[in-house]
Amino acid sequence: MAGEPFEFNQARLAAFRRCHRRFFLKYRSDRPLLERAFTLADRDWDAARQGQRFHLCMERLARGLPMQSVVNALPTEQAASLTKAWDYRCSLRADQFLTEYELTVPFDHWLLTARADLLARSSDGTVTIVDWKTGANTNADRLRRSDQARILPYVVLEASARLGWNTVTASGITLVFWFAQDPNHPLQLPYSQRQHEQNQSHLASIMGMIDGLAGEEAFARVPDDPATVDTVCRPCEYIHYCERNPTSAGPVQPIDYEEEDLEAVWEAFDFSLD
Ligand code: SF4
Repeated sequence: MAGEPFEFNQARLAAFRRCHRRFFLKYRSDRPLLERAFTLADRDWDAARQGQRFHLCMERLARGLPMQSVVNALPTEQAASLTKAWDYRCSLRADQFLTEYELTVPFDHWLLTARADLLARSSDGTVTIVDWKTGANTNADRLRRSDQARILPYVVLEASARLGWNTVTASGITLVFWFAQDPNHPLQLPYSQRQHEQNQSHLASIMGMIDGLAGEEAFARVPDDPATVDTVCRPCEYIHYCERNPTSAGPVQPIDYEEEDLEAVWEAFDFSLD
């Protein structure tokens, strides 16, 4: 009997790009993640928690809670950011808002999933996809070329008919990266049919490449040179399986939590706003 189709998403593709072996260990094996990996990898927990808290607050506001009750427990700077993000949301002309909305579409024999922080759909067929960033816009080119910028509009367009959004076309979609530390200058990325076709071909190529790798040894480790081991292996939660020996001391360069899959991490914590 055929197994469940593998579900790709931004985090899984980012993990594959980071290290093919790590992708295998994380998503294709049942190797346990050792408890002490969390302490060995000196990650930027505060920043990750702050981002998670921001999204939870936006979700609460979308559910109708008054701003004052949501920002009550937040530090002043975070409360101000949240207010500005909500103002931005309110400035969007839309007939329908979907918050923290996950969409999955079939892609060849796989599934492709994307989670939108906010979808704002107007009856004229336009859709704005908003991604809330709690930092600043430090690298617009990187964001433009990111898996997130490919997958989000791709999945929204492919899923639009199922959502009853029959008038949506590629050119009606805009992806917006909004930055809490630069709220007046969101990065707006208009989508197009040409990009949609390019994205489809790019995704098919990388997903096909991953699918063609059979067995753990086919998933290569990153090169065993001191610089790579220090930057990529040192924060890796699977370093115990790889016999890699970082040479540097001091703080670990954290894995990029904008790209990495937080779900497994949050399961290890009893996190709430209260
Ligand atoms: S320790 Fe290094 S080589 Fe091994 S899985 Fe992690 S990143 Fe890849």
